[in-house]
Amino acid sequence: LSQRVARFGTTVFSEFSALALKHQAVNLGQGFPDFDGPDDVKLAAWEAIQDGINQYAPGVGAKVLRDAIAEHSERFYGHRVDPDTMVSVTSGATEAILDVLLGLVDPGDEVVVFEPFYDSYDASIAFVGATPRYVPLRPPDAEHTAWWFDRDEVKAAFGPRTRLLILNTPHNPTGKVFTLEELEFLGNLCAEHDAKVLSDEVYEHIVFAPARHIRAATVPVLADRTVTVSSAGKSFSLTGWKIGWIIAPPPLRDAVQRAHQFVTFATASPFQVAMAAGLRMPDEYFQELTALYTEKRERLLTGLRAAGLTAFAPEGSYFILADISGYGFEDDVAFCRHLVTQVGVAAIPPSVFYGPEHRHLGQRFARFAFCKTEGVLDEAARRLRAKL
Ligand code: PMP
Ligand code: GLN
Repeated sequence: LSQRVARFGTTVFSEFSALALKHQAVNLGQGFPDFDGPDDVKLAAWEAIQDGINQYAPGVGAKVLRDAIAEHSERFYGHRVDPDTMVSVTSGATEAILDVLLGLVDPGDEVVVFEPFYDSYDASIAFVGATPRYVPLRPPDAEHTAWWFDRDEVKAAFGPRTRLLILNTPHNPTGKVFTLEELEFLGNLCAEHDAKVLSDEVYEHIVFAPARHIRAATVPVLADRTVTVSSAGKSFSLTGWKIGWIIAPPPLRDAVQRAHQFVTFATASPFQVAMAAGLRMPDEYFQELTALYTEKRERLLTGLRAAGLTAFAPEGSYFILADISGYGFEDDVAFCRHLVTQVGVAAIPPSVFYGPEHRHLGQRFARFAFCKTEGVLDEAARRLRAKL
């Protein structure tokens, strides 16, 4: 093993999906829909294959998809994007995240990242030899209706070596949607320290009113320094297609592209063509997706609460964090192991999304995914009520 990978075992998602299979548990662990995306988009992939779009796509991505990404940005956020100089298509957001780190961060640089974090951030930071500076998000309390951060803690995490801030809005796993005021505060701090921003917005279309998704790159102070990362997986319920992209001002796009060209070079061509059709779907498609997830969120919240769990309603994403501190387990990992083996429900222990110093903050929670069909959500609720 190289030292680079030595501290990374199997990802928590693979581990708990395997446990769910073994114990025939209802899998609310790994975040993937148990239903497929729109037929029109699937058909578009089939047609692209039939039409002979089966060789390497251009390294920056198929022109038709880059155009569709730019149109989608303008339609939903009024974000003007030049498809030829500001977009690169990647194999999922996961590749994009590594490419951004490779393209913008040197060994020894510092990267500020909120906890809990999506696990690939921490690995990608380690792969490039940078140092993470963690800032914990704090749960809702008497003074805060949503997850929040302490501004002094964020300020303290920035320093002369800060090269990048990693943002994730809507946030996995807390469901936090960052407000304009928060983005402006963070943007000003980045401007002061000449830091760039990776804004992971893969859940951009899974946001619950009154929360509203703000594309970080449309906040003036962030415009010139932000690389937006998104992907098709969540917005089109096609996580297995692994079509992602970055949007950035030309010099930052160029930096990320230099990495991308040697990480995967290009991404599956027929799926790129099909995703262009997806991004061009009428507004109703996106409204229906929100309505669908609003319904599922209520269903799982009701189920968790009926089982006696304290669950926070997320503002976005398809995850719910539930407080498990009253159940007498040593930590969230022990709770989730019990849940999958004895209760027959798989959830993710979020302490794995923290650095060592703040790990205890995650040990009070378990993450449940609600990107599942009604019957599955109801069966999970039934098992939790009966056996927890
Ligand atoms: N970022 C976040 C916050 C995610 O939750 C995920 C998927 N679970 C990804 C990135 C990765 O997206 P993709 O599947 O497109 O690589
Ligand atoms: N992003 C998904 C989640 O948070 C899992 C993706 C993966 O397995 N890498 O559950």
